[in-house]
Amino acid sequence: MPDVLAYATADASCQFHRTTITRREPGPTEVYFEVRYAGICHSDIHTARGEWGPVAYPLVPGHELAGVVTRVGADVTAFAVGDRVGVGCFVDSCRACEQCRAGHEQFCTSRDAPTVWTYASVGRDGLPTAGGYSQGITVEQDYVCHIPDALPFEKSAPLLCAGVTLYSPLKRWGAGPGKRVAIIGMGGLGHVGVQLAAKMGAEVIVISQTMAKREDGLRFGASDYYALSDPERLGQLRGTLDLMVSTVSATIDLDRLLRLLKPGGVLVDVGLPEHASTLRLSSLTGGNKVLAGSQIGGIAETQEMLDFCAEHGVAPQVEIITGEDITAAYDKVVRSQVRYRYVIDTSTF
Ligand code: NAP
Ligand code: ZN
Ligand code: ZN
Repeated sequence: MPDVLAYATADASCQFHRTTITRREPGPTEVYFEVRYAGICHSDIHTARGEWGPVAYPLVPGHELAGVVTRVGADVTAFAVGDRVGVGCFVDSCRACEQCRAGHEQFCTSRDAPTVWTYASVGRDGLPTAGGYSQGITVEQDYVCHIPDALPFEKSAPLLCAGVTLYSPLKRWGAGPGKRVAIIGMGGLGHVGVQLAAKMGAEVIVISQTMAKREDGLRFGASDYYALSDPERLGQLRGTLDLMVSTVSATIDLDRLLRLLKPGGVLVDVGLPEHASTLRLSSLTGGNKVLAGSQIGGIAETQEMLDFCAEHGVAPQVEIITGEDITAAYDKVVRSQVRYRYVIDTSTF
């Protein structure tokens, strides 16, 4: 049973401390890999702060993991020692229900063997799961992705959640040539979304709180940049957008955003703020508009996204931090000060 160093929080105050956790020896169909880098997703923060409801502590978050396989079970066929791999938000599901068979393992409907989340969940061994702020993890091979050689580890880690969370709805709702797509909020998710939508061939517009990150937005592939703080200029977008993806981590005015869509346009929300949102239903009926949601993506789609990023040169802009930096990093993410994803170097533990 390998003991590994990890960073945990003992409560919702999110003061992270170094600790040791025990990982299981890989079973016949499992791989053990050394986590080299782990991204800090805003979902880690919502979870660890208890904003989505009660959670068990101590908590080791992290669902954007990238590293190298060092042990494989006897029946593992898809991976070998030395392979570059990544794991995202979940590490198991039933494999048999309609959702699993359709490649939506995140929506597994099994009662006996439902989706096991990478942390804050209960594994098949009956033990609480612990996430990627750790130096290694044991995972069923079916829930592990190959990281293409063209992608460095530290830039791959955020793709395992942020990447697929934007890739999936952009693809599903037809981001591509001839489409005007807006990404709302240019944080960890948003800045990857701008790159993905641009590489899919869409005309991309960023809507951020302020104009402070405009140069970066244009560099990521946007053709224009707007600020929620400048309603007059934002109003020029009224009725012009085919698709919007909101990555905003706080409650915002949905009626205001829906006005910017063309008739028949789609607003997909991926942001998961702590508090409920409201909207006027006439914001949807006027113009046959669609308000949709999207949650990460399945394993096959995550692999497809990684391959797309390698082929098209999509890569998160990351700031590498140490284990001791995690506590401060949480506050900076909440204040939109991260450029654009904090990635923990686990060799600093
Ligand atoms: P992030 O890096 O903190 O980015 C969130 C962005 O939201 C900020 O950069 C900011 O954009 C914008 N924002 C924050 N407060 C705002 C406010 N009061 N008004 C307007 N805009 C505001 O977080 P992230 O890691 O990208 O995650 C974003 C959200 O998606 C979180 O709620 C997270 O839990 C959720 N999420 C969902 C999924 C899913 O599967 N659906 C997966 C991962 C994460 P600007 O700085 O550009 O203004
Ligand atoms: Zn995430
Ligand atoms: Zn299932």
